[in-house]
Order: sequence, then structure tokens, then C-alpha cells
Amino acid sequence: MLILTGCSQNTIALAQNNNSVNATYDINSFLPQDTGVVENTTTTNENQNTQSYQQTSANLTVNYIDIGQGDAELLTSDGHSMLIDTGTPESGSKIRLFLQKQGVQKLDYLVLTHPDSDHIGGAASVITNVPIDTVMMPDYQKDNKYYKGLIDALNYRYINPTIPVVGQTFTLGSCTVKVLGPIRKYDDPNNNSIVLKVTCGNNSFIFVGDAEEEELYDITNHFGAELDSDVYKVGHHGSHNSSSESFLRYVTPVFSVVSCAEGNSYGYPHAESLIRLRSIGSHLFRTDKQGTITIKSDGANITYDPSPCDNWTPGENTQNSQSSFASTQDTTSTSIVESSQYVLNTNTKKFHRPDCSSIADIKEKNKKISNQSRDEIINSGFKPCKRCNP
Ligand SMILES: [Zn+2]
Ligand SMILES: [Zn+2]
Repeated sequence: MLILTGCSQNTIALAQNNNSVNATYDINSFLPQDTGVVENTTTTNENQNTQSYQQTSANLTVNYIDIGQGDAELLTSDGHSMLIDTGTPESGSKIRLFLQKQGVQKLDYLVLTHPDSDHIGGAASVITNVPIDTVMMPDYQKDNKYYKGLIDALNYRYINPTIPVVGQTFTLGSCTVKVLGPIRKYDDPNNNSIVLKVTCGNNSFIFVGDAEEEELYDITNHFGAELDSDVYKVGHHGSHNSSSESFLRYVTPVFSVVSCAEGNSYGYPHAESLIRLRSIGSHLFRTDKQGTITIKSDGANITYDPSPCDNWTPGENTQNSQSSFASTQDTTSTSIVESSQYVLNTNTKKFHRPDCSSIADIKEKNKKISNQSRDEIINSGFKPCKRCNP
């Protein structure tokens, strides 16, 4: 049975036009903006349980594995499988156990989007213990022990990693995978993330690793309308420097999945990312609130377990920003700021993004929330904070 999480009150009723599976999204009839929030309507059935992937009618199953602060997604289609990222160094055994439970004994593909430790952390453990046909990595080296451990594991297995080429496609069971990025080399690891679009019939899923504005800008310019996807693995764990507005305008995901840890020290997901996702009418899943998220496609319909939580409370860990920008009550968690706002310090004459860590230090009497534009605020004598660069 489905395990309901703390977000379940905000479950959206998506049962129209479908008799067998209630939590179903029909690509032709579902307009997310018009869907009301209905209480206590969560209904799923035993078929939604995904302990075993091989006995379903779906052509693609994507598990956004809850490995804490990091990324790890397992995609399976017709007995073929691809793992995108391996979480932190502590995630290796958890991922292996997850593969075992899903009946995955071999990976067709391991994609390591970029060499940060929250993406390649568990890679050495997976590579040394699970047979893998192809390992994909970007053309970007990092000088840390996890990267070295990964290279050692590849050498131990005699695996020569593949650097994917943008525009290249390959198959995963009955699905097609297309490489969308990185289009060129960038200075920092996040912007060198491998970006993939996986198409299953009429449905598609996009994975962007930790790609930030720079890489997303190039991908948007290059691929435009081709980015259109039903499900979006939210970039960089919901950081404000990813999920750019122009990129989202093309992707227009019906569903977005944030992979991060509850109470993470980065404050993910950031308010600005959530605002952008919400403003395009996307429904939200969160591993920090819901654990592992399973989304399936049979080529026409998308089903999921659990249902979207649509919990728009940002992960900022400062008390002031929590109370200023979102209620922590489940029942009113949709009350996040509706438009771009800034926080002013009337004493220092600085202004901040809502997720800036400096906000915690502003005295209540000096703190003011402004709905004015950035230019208007600057014109009235305020200077942008150097830490959050609003
Ligand atoms: Zn990351
Ligand atoms: Zn990263």
C-alpha cells in the first residue's frame, strides 16, 4: 500500500477519465492550473506499489531515490535500466539495496552528471559491485578523493567511461534518451552536468543534474521547444541559480521533482526556484518530504506514487526567512510569496533575496519585505547584498 506522508492533505485529485488507477495524469486532458486542491482524496491501489518493476504495463519507471542530500534516479524500461547519479559517499549501499529490491542485477547505463560528491559519492561502491555496460561522464575532472575513488573503481572494472555527445540518442528498453548538454565546457562542475531527455511514447522526462543558469541558457537557445517535458528533475536540488525562467518556459513540466534532504544546510529548495515552478503551474514532488518518488509512463499516461505534495515551503533554515516567506503549516503551505519579493534592511540600506542567510541577522524592526522591483529598490537608495546578489 501507499505510505502517506505529511504532505498528503495537499494531494491533488487527478482521477478524471480513469477508472483503474486514480493517481493518473492524462496528457490530453489535465490542465494543472485548473486543478483544485481537495482534502483527503488520496487514493491509490496496490498496482501503484513498485516493489517490482517488471510486472507493470508501464514502459518506463523512474524512481527518484531518497538518498538524502544529493541525486540518484533509477530508470527502468522493458528490463533495461539506467542509473543517473549515485548520491553521497554514504548512498552507495542504499542504492545497491534499492537496485536489488527492484530486481535490477545489471545496469545498461550509469550516468554521472558531474563529479560533485553528492552525485558521484556512491559511484565507486556501485561500479565495483554491480555489472554496468556503459558509464557516462562529462569531460570534467575534479581533484578530490571521491573522484579518485571513482576512477579507481572504473579501472578495477576495466570500464572506459563514455563522454556523451550533445544531440546523440540511444535507447533504453522502449524509450529514447537524447543528450542535451553540456553544450560546451564551463568552469564549474555544476554547469558541466550531463542533461538528458528521456522519451517514452508521448511522455518525456528531463534530467538536468545541477545545471545552473549558464548551461541552461545555452541549452534553451539550442533546443528551445524540444525541451518540452512532462516531468522535470529540478536542477541543483531547487537552488535559486537553477530552473531559470526561460528554460522552464520551454520545458513547462506538469510535474517537478526536487531531490534534497530535509533540513539540509543549503536551504534547498530555495524560494525563488519554487516560485518559478509554481508560477508555471507545475505540481511538485519532494524527496525531503516524501521519500522516494516513483513516476511511471505507459507511453500515454503518467502515474505516480506518492501523489505530488505541492508543498511550496522553501528549505531555508533561518527562522526569519521561514516565517516571512512560507508557513510551515501543511494546511497553508501554499501561502508562499506569490511574486518576486526582496527583504530590505532599513538600517544598513541593503536588500536581499528571500533565501539569503544574512536575513537571520536583521533585527525585526529594521526588516521590511518589499514587492517593488529591483530597480525601484535601488532607486530608493538600497544596495544589493554582496552575499546573495539580488
Ligand atoms: Zn548536487
Ligand atoms: Zn553539483
